[in-house]
Amino acid sequence: MGSKKRTPLIRHLINTLILLIIITIGYVCYTIVYDLRVRFINRSELNDLAGVNKEYAERFEHFVDDIEKESGWKVKIISGLRSREEQIQLKRDNPRNAAVNKSRHVLGRAVDINLYKRVGLTTLWLKKGNSKGSWRKTGVPEIANRYHLLWGGTYRNYHDPVHFEIN
Ligand SMILES: [Zn+2]
Repeated sequence: MGSKKRTPLIRHLINTLILLIIITIGYVCYTIVYDLRVRFINRSELNDLAGVNKEYAERFEHFVDDIEKESGWKVKIISGLRSREEQIQLKRDNPRNAAVNKSRHVLGRAVDINLYKRVGLTTLWLKKGNSKGSWRKTGVPEIANRYHLLWGGTYRNYHDPVHFEIN
């Protein structure tokens, strides 16, 4: 009697296990593709910056590499070089954004980055809305210092921890 009842239970356990393995493989594939896409975006942002000034672009590239090596966070460049038109539009959308003649993005001297990190099945993000303290804890502002990049987290009147620029 016992063996007849155990067989469906074992089959059920095996099916559950197979399902879990499929989900895990699916998730791992998704993260690999996601990270490759981010790398591609970062590469193209850095290439655009290099079109303006190679030395600046290299400095940002080393900065990004060091963050990924030392902090345990991955970098997604969300903005690099901007056209004058894009900056004028940003200023229109939010008057607190830099004017076109003041933005380092237009000159190819700034990047905005988000940081992300996977913990189990969740992804932690550090974005513009996060506190300066959370950003400081990652060690990224210190790495920026090493490359003589001014951190937007040090602005007095504007909260911009995603921004790093060559002054
Ligand atoms: Zn910026």
